[in-house]
Amino acid sequence: MANTKYIFVTGGVTSSLGKGIISSSLATLLQARGYSVTIQKLDPYINIDPGTLNPYEHGECFVTEDGAETDLDLGHYERFLNRPTSQSNNVTTGRIYQSVINKERAGAYLGKTVQVIPHITDEIKNRIQILGNTGEFEIVITEIGGTVGDIEALPYIETVRQLRWELGDDCLVVHLTLIPYLPTTGELKTKPTQHSVKLLQESGVQPDILVCRAERSIGEDIKKKLALFCNVKKEAVIESLDASTIYEVPILMQKEKLDKVVLQRLNLPVEAEPDLVRWKDFLYKLKYPQSEVTIGLVGKYVELKDAYKSISESIIHAGAANDCKVHVKWIHSESVNDENAATHLGNLDAVLVAPGFGERGFVGKIATVKYAREQHLPFLGICFGMQAAVIEFAQNVLQLAGANSSEVDPKTPHPVIDLMEEQKKVTNYGGTMRLGACACDLTPDSLAKKIYKRSQISERHRHRFEFNSNYKEQFEANGMLASGLNPDTGLVEIVEIPEHPWFMGVQFHPEYKSTVANPHPLFVSFVAAAVTHSQEK
Ligand code: GLN
Repeated sequence: MANTKYIFVTGGVTSSLGKGIISSSLATLLQARGYSVTIQKLDPYINIDPGTLNPYEHGECFVTEDGAETDLDLGHYERFLNRPTSQSNNVTTGRIYQSVINKERAGAYLGKTVQVIPHITDEIKNRIQILGNTGEFEIVITEIGGTVGDIEALPYIETVRQLRWELGDDCLVVHLTLIPYLPTTGELKTKPTQHSVKLLQESGVQPDILVCRAERSIGEDIKKKLALFCNVKKEAVIESLDASTIYEVPILMQKEKLDKVVLQRLNLPVEAEPDLVRWKDFLYKLKYPQSEVTIGLVGKYVELKDAYKSISESIIHAGAANDCKVHVKWIHSESVNDENAATHLGNLDAVLVAPGFGERGFVGKIATVKYAREQHLPFLGICFGMQAAVIEFAQNVLQLAGANSSEVDPKTPHPVIDLMEEQKKVTNYGGTMRLGACACDLTPDSLAKKIYKRSQISERHRHRFEFNSNYKEQFEANGMLASGLNPDTGLVEIVEIPEHPWFMGVQFHPEYKSTVANPHPLFVSFVAAAVTHSQEK
């Protein structure tokens, strides 16, 4: 096999320009030309992983098959490429330092002073090349988190400089910047981009391609000017206009010939065109829906929609699969109670109760379940949302006064959601939840079985607490069925109410597995139930 090609994506001017989407879009175009591509994110912060971060800091924590708690951009990579990522696809400064320090203690550098260059940069280099060295990928795209000029990103930029030198033509750098528009003078300004490229050059890195985010078309003159000032070819100045959906970006990048410029620069053939038939079919369904529904999303982080990124993207995929536009009504769980539930939820076609941790807003989640259960509103509870469904049923149907999760009420007389023995021994918070893919057996004749059309599934987990199986019989005798069980431990992974038109709680996170090419069957069925509900209203 030919050498693996490495593409680095750096960001300049400001953060949040969408490096993840540009990386995913470029990867989509290359994959559609038949290349095997993966994307990796290097995060300059010192946490070992984002698992211990509050979603307000960096949005959702995405979980991979192998149980890595990662940056939400990995979700985009999987959704665009329809290919799982792993622990190797996300590396933080904390992890780099941890492994260098562990090696130092083990004596790997005996006699030497351990330094940022070469020890930290060598470790970063190893992490970048791990994916290339598997032999699975022809192209590895590495997105460097943060913005050029950040002190904490310096070792990464230095590593890019070294790798460019070592890999020569097998490597290129894409720099993503912003071309702001000044309404007072009616102009697009290139100066911030010039400065940001200069900053990169000061670190010894010359970008090959500039991708310029802009709210208005930048035109040929600006492309020429940027090419001149920044030492890039004019055709390598790519305009990236704001798009109506992130799934449009691959098409916009193809129009701008980003894929061709990349292939030329890597000495790969450019003649063929990418096969985007299925992608465009999805986009068409997204843009021209036949019906509309509104689904409520009840959670405590709704001010920051990135906290529920994979859920909202899964809803978009499922909407397209149903030829339906899904409006999401974001509902703060702290604002819902039994008295006002009808006001918040009355006009919805379905409601989803989101994952979460801790007491804040939890009673609002329970009130939401109660309303959905009693009013026959299609309901999907994910993780903490499933636990809320179990608790609501225990309190209001089984009449177990004070029933709760021992996470929320450690003294509850009825811990229907409780810690398993092995979690009771856990003292460290980082990376110690039940994480990653687990098998689940589906009960015959259940809704779950009908939806998945198979008897065993595998889904990803991220939680400490579990359905307390001591209560299982009582639940089943009163109308809540445990329709998914872990084959190894017997733990309840899915609950449903057969009497209800569509009521399901899942202990796992289906949202981590929905992709453009493979919308998740649970979400597809949930949106279909919302469509039916809206027609019956
Ligand atoms: N807090 C719950 C637990 O740890 C649910 C976690 C989640 O929703 N991801 O079990």
